[in-house]
Amino acid sequence: MKHRIVLTVCIALFALGLIGSAVVLLMPKKSTVVIRRDSEVLYTFNLSTAPDQTLVIPYGDSSNTVEIRDGAVRVKEAECPDKTCVNMGWLRSSAMPIVCLPNHLIIEFADADRGVDAISE
Ligand SMILES: [Zn+2]
Repeated sequence: MKHRIVLTVCIALFALGLIGSAVVLLMPKKSTVVIRRDSEVLYTFNLSTAPDQTLVIPYGDSSNTVEIRDGAVRVKEAECPDKTCVNMGWLRSSAMPIVCLPNHLIIEFADADRGVDAISE
């Protein structure tokens, strides 16, 4: 009898785990993107709803041209010396923000866990 109770509890916990992972998997993909200069937020938009567009973000005599297309974002052109931001291509993961060091520009997915909770979808 005792074994059956233990077994039932195990099955219940297993089922709860399954439901838990299903909920996590079904959660909407994070698609809020923030464009920042150091700690100042210049643009915030939702990639899944943002229309295709090109943003020119000036920095002194220099500038970055940011392209939003088909729910993705990248630095299309830049006047910075190293062009690292252009070479990084499209933003794919929150672990890999697009950074333009010379122009102090950062393009990244908003991550609520990192205290960007001023941004709401
Ligand atoms: Zn750059």
